[in-house]
Amino acid sequence: MSMMLDRRQALSLGFGGIATLMLAACGGGSSESAASGATVYKIATDTTFAPFEYAEADGTYVGIDIELLASIAADQGFEYELQPLGFDAALQAVQASQADGVIAGMSITEERKKIFDFSQPYYDSTVCAAAKAGGDIKSLDDLKGKTVAVKTGTMSESWANSLAEQYGFTTVAFDTSDVMYQDVAAGNTACCFEDTPVMSYAISTGNVALELIAEAEADSEFATPYGFAVNKGENAELLKMFDAGLANIKSNGTYDQIVSKYVKSVE
Ligand code: GLN
Repeated sequence: MSMMLDRRQALSLGFGGIATLMLAACGGGSSESAASGATVYKIATDTTFAPFEYAEADGTYVGIDIELLASIAADQGFEYELQPLGFDAALQAVQASQADGVIAGMSITEERKKIFDFSQPYYDSTVCAAAKAGGDIKSLDDLKGKTVAVKTGTMSESWANSLAEQYGFTTVAFDTSDVMYQDVAAGNTACCFEDTPVMSYAISTGNVALELIAEAEADSEFATPYGFAVNKGENAELLKMFDAGLANIKSNGTYDQIVSKYVKSVE
């Protein structure tokens, strides 16, 4: 009881403004910048999806998506607040109009086009399966009767589901890529399904002792590029600015600079 009073007193003694701002930042879509009065777009992203988005030791978010967004916003002169929610949660936040847009290595699919409007594609990707390096699981044929790890709401989860019956495995879902990899490394699940650029990056940086055992065909429905997305029919202006900014940073070399910072060979 006394604690509540203290908190209320504290609010009335000057934290009120900050609290109001924080509340404004938590509910609904875009808010207004206190400094400029400009719209501040809420952009949702994944928590751990290197090299596209991940936190450094001090909590600062870095990665290809993060830098592309920053460059595009600077080019187009819009303000935004980054919300690292996790992949599935980010998509849900946009659908519920709690966030204005999502950049999260999000594959452009026909299914998703029914509920989101996408930017121009900005990065080619495909999906793969990875098992413990040097272990018994060498290909999809070794998965009979096994449990495999997938990430909730992702393209690679759909790929796994499409193969489950044929190869005789069952799936268990994880919310984040890093926890999923650890589960495979610990030997709880036989392999995990993930986007190839992300899995390859984790392996090449030595972050996880896994190896690729399969990849979707390059011409399959699972090999689709990433796009920035907004809720269907909403935030058309933001989407337009994203596309315009993307075109600009592609032609002035910024796009290539950002990608080559994280990925060794840029085609
Ligand atoms: N590209 C995948 C998808 O869109 C995974 C994205 C992610 O996990 N951040 O489903």
